[in-house]
Amino acid sequence: MADVLVVVDHVEGVVRKPSLEVLTLARRLGTPVALALGPGAGGTAQAVGGHGVERVLVNEGDEFADFSVVPRVDAVQAAVEAVSPVAVLFVSSGENKEIAARLALRVGSGVIVDAVDVEPDAKGPVVVQSVFAAAYTTRSRVTRGVPVITVKPNSAPVEPAVGAGVVEELPVRFGDVSRVARVVERTARVSSGRPELTEAAIVVSGGRGLGSGEGFALIEGLADALGAAVGASRAAVDAGWYPHAHQVGQTGKSVSPQLYIASGISGAIQHRAGMQTSKTIVAINKDPEAPIFDLVDYGVVGDLHTVVPQLTDDINTRKN
Ligand code: FAD
Repeated sequence: MADVLVVVDHVEGVVRKPSLEVLTLARRLGTPVALALGPGAGGTAQAVGGHGVERVLVNEGDEFADFSVVPRVDAVQAAVEAVSPVAVLFVSSGENKEIAARLALRVGSGVIVDAVDVEPDAKGPVVVQSVFAAAYTTRSRVTRGVPVITVKPNSAPVEPAVGAGVVEELPVRFGDVSRVARVVERTARVSSGRPELTEAAIVVSGGRGLGSGEGFALIEGLADALGAAVGASRAAVDAGWYPHAHQVGQTGKSVSPQLYIASGISGAIQHRAGMQTSKTIVAINKDPEAPIFDLVDYGVVGDLHTVVPQLTDDINTRKN
């Protein structure tokens, strides 16, 4: 079976869930070979071995932590040359999309970003994308070289599979360009204890209907009851009620959780662009004509200041 190279995102060897999702898709195309870079990369072996990976290429060089992006391009290129895969898969993130684009340029192939599925095909993998605010589904194929594909988080289930997970050191030759952009400082984000927005299985979002920044306490309460991440509309972010890092939509983040709950959000096209591929969508809005109701699986017409606390209480009661 052909090898599929999967670039694994990890923190000190702890593999992030979206990478395990990508491994599920990779197994449809062939045998996944994982590539893990930076401090603790070797620690990923057990986790990826439990998801069908036979070989784990590892390089723990300081360059990956000390310099921005290009050392990773050098490493993925080295892995492509070592493995000759039928495709290279990444999780869709800002950094990975940059690496993917630079890699495709170097190896003379094409890149397709934000895939929601991949299908095996004799002519090369077919990549499924959900585009124009999920109004269309497209199927595309890279027609030259090794296809480079980034996959949106929450596009596939995490499915364990047996693999040897044998670690192999990957030699990487870093070019001069690799050391051009140095990381000079890192500040850890204060953790809310909630899941990362783009990776969360459940997202609870608030909009202008909350009426104030304090209103987000309701959203956070519901999110915590569900173990969810918190999202926000641009109107709420522009009003200074919640940080931009939580904005969902065209100029914010794209999310595709199992459950998306929109509270006091009208459902403008630019908001929908970032959440329309969610599996189940619930809206709470006092206006029965709000456009968000065209999109939802379940809609509650009512004042969110009444509905959200009731919902939160009910969930907490059922949990106890
Ligand atoms: P509103 O449209 O004002 O809707 C508020 C809703 O709350 C209404 O439907 C109202 O009925 C309801 N409501 C009010 N009070 C209550 C209550 N007590 N209980 C229940 N419901 C209540 N927007 C994004 O979200 N993300 C983006 O990334 C984004 N990018 C953009 C990019 C561009 C180039 C442009 C032009 C716009 C962009 N926008 C984006 C803005 C977008 O067009 C909308 O203006 C925005 O999404 C509206 O936010 P909202 O739904 O919170 O507010």
